[in-house]
Amino acid sequence: MATGKLLIYLLRRDLKVIDNPILHHLATTTDHGFTHLLPIYVFPAHQIEVSGFLKDGEKSPYLPARSRVGGYWRCGPHRAKFLAQSVWDLKESLEQLGSGLVIRVGDVKDVLSHLIHGLKGKAPGVGAVWMTEELSLEEKDEQDAVASICSANDISFKLWPDEKYFVDDRDTGLETPKDLPDVFTSYRKSQEPLRERPRSVLPRVERSSLPLFLEKTSVPDQHHPFTVPTKLQDLEARLIQPLGDIVRNAPPYPDGAESAHPFQGGESHAQKRLRHLIKSGAMSSYKETRNGLLGLDFSTKLSAYLALGCVSARFVHEELLKLEDGTDPEYEKAPGYGQGESDGTAAVRFELLWRDYMRLCMAKFGQKLFRQSGFTQGDKYDKTWKTANKHEAKHDQDPSPDKIARILERFEEGTTGMGLIDASQRELFHTGYTSNRARQNSASFLSKHLGIDWRYGAEWYEMLLVDFDVSSNWANWQYMAGVGNDPRGDARIFNPVKQAFDYDKDGTYVRTWVPELKDLEKPENVFQAWTASSSDLEQHGLANNIMVTDPIKRIDFTVDRKPKGSRRSFPRRRGPGRGGRRGGNGQGPGGSGAPQDHSTDGSAMHHSAHSNGLLQSQSRGRGVPRPPRGGGYAPRANYDSPPVYYNNGYPGPWSVDYNDARGRSNYGFYRGVAPMYGQRMQVPFRNSYAQPMYFPPPTMGPGGA
Ligand SMILES: Cc1cc2nc3c(=O)[nH]c(=O)nc-3n(C[C@H](O)[C@H](O)[C@H](O)COP(=O)(O)OP(=O)(O)OC[C@H]3O[C@@H](n4cnc5c(N)ncnc54)[C@H](O)[C@@H]3O)c2cc1C
Repeated sequence: MATGKLLIYLLRRDLKVIDNPILHHLATTTDHGFTHLLPIYVFPAHQIEVSGFLKDGEKSPYLPARSRVGGYWRCGPHRAKFLAQSVWDLKESLEQLGSGLVIRVGDVKDVLSHLIHGLKGKAPGVGAVWMTEELSLEEKDEQDAVASICSANDISFKLWPDEKYFVDDRDTGLETPKDLPDVFTSYRKSQEPLRERPRSVLPRVERSSLPLFLEKTSVPDQHHPFTVPTKLQDLEARLIQPLGDIVRNAPPYPDGAESAHPFQGGESHAQKRLRHLIKSGAMSSYKETRNGLLGLDFSTKLSAYLALGCVSARFVHEELLKLEDGTDPEYEKAPGYGQGESDGTAAVRFELLWRDYMRLCMAKFGQKLFRQSGFTQGDKYDKTWKTANKHEAKHDQDPSPDKIARILERFEEGTTGMGLIDASQRELFHTGYTSNRARQNSASFLSKHLGIDWRYGAEWYEMLLVDFDVSSNWANWQYMAGVGNDPRGDARIFNPVKQAFDYDKDGTYVRTWVPELKDLEKPENVFQAWTASSSDLEQHGLANNIMVTDPIKRIDFTVDRKPKGSRRSFPRRRGPGRGGRRGGNGQGPGGSGAPQDHSTDGSAMHHSAHSNGLLQSQSRGRGVPRPPRGGGYAPRANYDSPPVYYNNGYPGPWSVDYNDARGRSNYGFYRGVAPMYGQRMQVPFRNSYAQPMYFPPPTMGPGGA
């Protein structure tokens, strides 16, 4: 073993200095044995396109960072920018602490090998490489590769546990990932009361408490043929420049539309956002507003920060405790100060547990996360998904692969003719964000209404979401496609017209993002423009619009304008929904069981027998008897035809192929097929680290009082 004193800390999704176990350990223990520290972040070439960093005239040794099914970029412009900002923010924070951050691009293995080679024979020698464990396949392969390089170079390697969970995975009571219940509710019940479960946050490390930062001049340069910029703007530009046009007919940015996610990346911005949410009362009212579609504060917008590890879930929890317990004068004027857990704060914890659950599902199901048949479908699964791939499509696929390719384009560009879906897709395209409610509808529309291979959608989201997180994205897509852990599986289909009436009563959201429709008077016409009268269509210049002439789907939906009952549309409605102590059935990630979810209200929803064709003109199915009434919204919507499965909740069965291993990237394909460097390190699920416990709260056992 080399006697070096330099520690290389490879950062990935732990872009923060507060609640960072590695930094905390280095700052608070004296016997770690390192004199120098080299924190380094690598923009990984298989997940983000790095050809923008090539020196003039050089060619990249890496394959383009494209997805396997749809061939999309794996990281689009919004996240690339947010990531660059987050990395830069970390660099500045580390500098303030008297340390620093080295930024590199390429394959992590190449970067590390180059670094170790360049530091050989110099003092201080490399003593160890540390990184935080991730359970996603590509990241596990990366860990294995780093371990092998270290072992080949006689350098010690340590994987630190990922402490970004809400309930730390070592405290869940699960012996192995296989013990995770297949239904979220069962898991939730085993972890309640949620407020008492998280471990304590680790404080920010103090200035000059870390081992010395390695002199810049001693750090080997970025390996050939790349160069790394020294300014944030340049970094952002080089990440974005190779992406080019993402869609053929990009929708123009609508006048007056405001992004729901104008936030900058980085730990300091995450902290600011969190404090704002608490002070403004948004956390306390979260349960009532969380199904919103427009605006900054209807939901926390913490997802992108959580995904990159700019903040941890337990940090969010601890700030909520300060509010609830009235222990931080900074929050003194905030609604709910000192008044204990509210429905709002409980609902935030509930969602954070959903996030944990998706991560644990990834640990349990591994590469099945990327299979068309999902987590749960067994060998008997025989559903045929429509595809744009001529080699994979059945010979009699209708519509043909070419037509599916066109439908996909229209889905991506937001011109399907289904207002809510188009608005959400355009918002996503322009801003990198769309609400949970809109995501659920878009995913259900693509997979269930159109029967298109849901992985196109998951990859599209992977590219565009600013908050893309491998487990949350792929597991939610599986859930919506009926192949994940929704106990209702195929039986749950969202009706995007009814959903629009429920959550966008006047069509404000659709009008904002699909401005062609903004002057149509009736919301039902905004939600499906083809239903407008020919005079209205003429008047608003829509008569020849493809959303009118050739909507991808028509859903028969009639509106009874006499309000019945006292239900109000979201967001004015109040009451216990899912999420929180008294709320809902707790069955769906991000939106099930809320009071607004009325899949079982026979008065409201029927799915049209005429609405299953794709790109076909269909009649509205007039004359089909209306279903019985009862309950209802104002305006109430009736909607002809066979019974609906649908709803808003989540809560099914699990389980084709997908190359068995998702191994795109520079190794070939998607995740999981990277060549091994040496032997694989066996990393047991939990309790595998010589890791100090940090002030565990008193009730750690599942279901503890
Ligand atoms: C098809 C689909 C794809 C999705 N892809 C992602 C993704 O790539 N990354 C991602 O973070 N979330 C994803 N979600 C979950 C959810 O939509 C987002 O977390 C949420 O909209 C982010 O906004 P927010 O931070 O304001 O959430 P809030 O409503 O404020 O929720 C608070 C936090 O709880 C977590 N959370 C909330 N809902 C879920 C959920 N359903 N599953 C897992 N965690 C949840 C998030 O970390 C979120 O920041 C997806 C949902 C669907 C239906």
